[in-house]
Amino acid sequence: MTLDKKALEHAGHLHTGIDLLHDPTRNKGTAFTATEREQLGLLGLLPPRVNSVAEQVDRVMENFHGCSDDLSKYIFLNALQERNETLFYRVLIENLEMMLPIVYTPTVGEACQKFGHIFRRPRGLFVSAEDRGRITELLHNWPTRDVRVIVVTDGERILGLGDQGADGMGIPVGKLNLYTACAGVDPSACLPVTLDVGTNNSALLADPLYIGLKQSRLEGEAYDSFVEEFIRAVQEVFPSCLVQFEDFANKNAFRMLSKYRDRVCTFNDDIQGTAAVTYSGVVSALRTTDGELRDQKTLFLGAGEAGIGIADLMVASLVHGGVPENEARRRCWFVDSRGMVVAGRDHLTEQKLRYAHEHPGALDLAAAVKDLRPSVLVGVSGQPQTFTQPVVEMMSEFNERPIIFALSNPTSKSECTAEQAYTWSGGRAIFASGSPFPPVEYDGHTLVPGQGNNSYIFPGVGLGVLASGARLVTDEMFSAAAHALCEQVTAAERDLGCIYPALSRIREVSAHIATAVAEVAYARDLASLPHPADMKEYVLSHMYEPSYSSYV
Ligand code: NAD
Repeated sequence: MTLDKKALEHAGHLHTGIDLLHDPTRNKGTAFTATEREQLGLLGLLPPRVNSVAEQVDRVMENFHGCSDDLSKYIFLNALQERNETLFYRVLIENLEMMLPIVYTPTVGEACQKFGHIFRRPRGLFVSAEDRGRITELLHNWPTRDVRVIVVTDGERILGLGDQGADGMGIPVGKLNLYTACAGVDPSACLPVTLDVGTNNSALLADPLYIGLKQSRLEGEAYDSFVEEFIRAVQEVFPSCLVQFEDFANKNAFRMLSKYRDRVCTFNDDIQGTAAVTYSGVVSALRTTDGELRDQKTLFLGAGEAGIGIADLMVASLVHGGVPENEARRRCWFVDSRGMVVAGRDHLTEQKLRYAHEHPGALDLAAAVKDLRPSVLVGVSGQPQTFTQPVVEMMSEFNERPIIFALSNPTSKSECTAEQAYTWSGGRAIFASGSPFPPVEYDGHTLVPGQGNNSYIFPGVGLGVLASGARLVTDEMFSAAAHALCEQVTAAERDLGCIYPALSRIREVSAHIATAVAEVAYARDLASLPHPADMKEYVLSHMYEPSYSSYV
């Protein structure tokens, strides 16, 4: 029986014929069956041979490997997403470890730097300073009403690459792809947003192909009221939506977080997500060394969103464990661009003041390491090659197993490489980085560096928030997420020196994190949905699977 095309469109199939092939959410390409082709007006519009999904995946992988460099792979995958979303997520999920560095750091950094030059089609929503007064109208232009997660950036601090203006859109797009790939959040519920408030990047302002407003950034009251209008518009148009702030400059990130965290379902991934993944890595490393968090002294290079966020979570955890707050803070020390953060120094923000201990200042990292003899060294400075050989050697003098995390992104900004950390510590460092490094052969052993990748945390946190209908996102949820992540490292992985679980198990890990986060929401009376009989089952059953629907 041949169904009438119009009847099908009315039955919920929005498109048939060529329109269906141009709808990435429904397109199956060469996998449309003979019956579907017959009934959906596709005859002649596709080559005759029907492919299985496995064959389509093979074709994608052949082309992916044929790309000459990582940026070409990024462009290729974007184009696939624009053509056939299901197939895109299928290959991404099946090859996550290989593709994460393409859809996210480090390649996404290069993509943002060249965004205006590689731009093909818009993705997500661009809300510019010129749209002030009518942001609600813009949100209504988005084709679906059931948006549940927004990742928003203003492009001012893209990875460690600084102000990329509207070209920072690669970040929300990439992060939301990870929500779907890592935690099964339905792609139709995800909305990437860039707030184009201008840019102070003179190279972009001079670039004829730059995609954003050619003006300097809004500041002060103009900036704040613009963000406020955006947040209010989101609450009106997508009332139960989670808003993740991403890659805002330090000066706005902390302010926005404290302004909105108690009235909007929101979090800042650079502060809270980074804190959770790093804290989890430290706790995991201490399981390997048989150490206790209360006995560690952590020195941070960089006192920005990441560093302060990590320290705050460590302190909260110590306080929870019975350590007095003052003492807990004295476990965390900072060196920033002006030297050691100590009491009485100039240029101390409110956040840094909490960690400005009474102590003689040291001018640089090496002097601070020598003076403080830390057991954990965390690099979140965006300054490459600052964990020098003498620094790593000193860390290895005081510690049997120094914990060294060089977290700055992308790879070119890392404070040291995995190979350097292992070589200079005589193979004893427990090392993690922000962008991935390959395993290192050292003295007949394979050492597997950890990747303190926020994708271990934020997708699971988001899924837990959605599953419980949490009204707010709390630090306790991030702490629960960090512990849940740590629990997922298997004994076999620990034997290899891993402090994080394999990325290949990320969906299972995210479900575990989501369950822990949702339980916090229920325990704190923040959930708005009824508690299901089995939370984990419920979470798993709501995860998006990239498989084709049958249309006839
Ligand atoms: P930020 O701008 O808020 O802070 C940067 C800090 O580094 C500031 O305190 C600044 O004073 C300090 N700094 C700059 N130059 C320095 C120098 N020469 N010596 C010492 N300190 C210096 O940025 P952020 O959000 O904290 O991010 C910092 C870095 O951490 C970025 O490269 C980012 O990509 C990376 N990061 C990694 C992860 C992860 O691996 N999971 C997560 C978030 C951020």
